[in-house]
Amino acid sequence: MSQKNNNDKGRLNYQEKENFRRLLETDKVDRVEDRLKVVDTFLETEKHVTLEELQGLLRQKGYEFDPEFVRHCMSRAVDLGFAQRKTFEGQPVRYEHRHLGRHHDHLICTKCGKIEEFEDPEMEALQQRIASRHGFQMLQHKMEIYGLCSLCLAQRKPVLPLAMAKTGEAVVIKEITGGMGAKERLISLGLRPGEVLEVVSNNGEGRLIVARDCSRIALGRGLAQKIMVSPAEKQALPECKDPA
Ligand SMILES: [Zn+2]
Ligand SMILES: [Zn+2]
Ligand SMILES: [Zn+2]
Repeated sequence: MSQKNNNDKGRLNYQEKENFRRLLETDKVDRVEDRLKVVDTFLETEKHVTLEELQGLLRQKGYEFDPEFVRHCMSRAVDLGFAQRKTFEGQPVRYEHRHLGRHHDHLICTKCGKIEEFEDPEMEALQQRIASRHGFQMLQHKMEIYGLCSLCLAQRKPVLPLAMAKTGEAVVIKEITGGMGAKERLISLGLRPGEVLEVVSNNGEGRLIVARDCSRIALGRGLAQKIMVSPAEKQALPECKDPA
């Protein structure tokens, strides 16, 4: 990031802090200075922070505040339009800056939890067009893309048990391990090497649901450990039409 951008950010944060102080003063709350410390620390980070992470950042600066106080400060920051609360699937509540007149969307890694931001004017315009086609006036939207980040993707083994594949992924069966009993059961379900599956639902525990040839199959986790798969292209999945 260039020096200029950093300075701009510093100035923006300073303005926001002063703006926040004025609003707090009209609010007639107690501990204004402590509240400013919390919000200032929040404004300094560019991350999407949980309350716990924010408390950690405060602690690094030598401030020890109880979680309830930090939570309360952050709700005020949300109400006053300085922060926004984000709930990404499978993650605790996070807070991020709410800069006036700016908007971005998110990519979330379902393996390591990494959150990346993106801005795409074409995507924004497309959403406007979709809304107006339906007679909607778009006021706000959420665009979240879940998947594997480039690092997690690179670390991924080429062959892994089906039990470790992620919801939404397309995989091809490479091998079935385990005894004859398991093999026979799987073959009776049509699960044999070379078959392409869609992981419909895998929340990391209990059964998982896969689709083979346009029908859903529930598999116990133990059985899913025995099916070795590799990632496949989504295009390899059959196109499933609703029964006429
Ligand atoms: Zn957007
Ligand atoms: Zn990742
Ligand atoms: Zn963000």
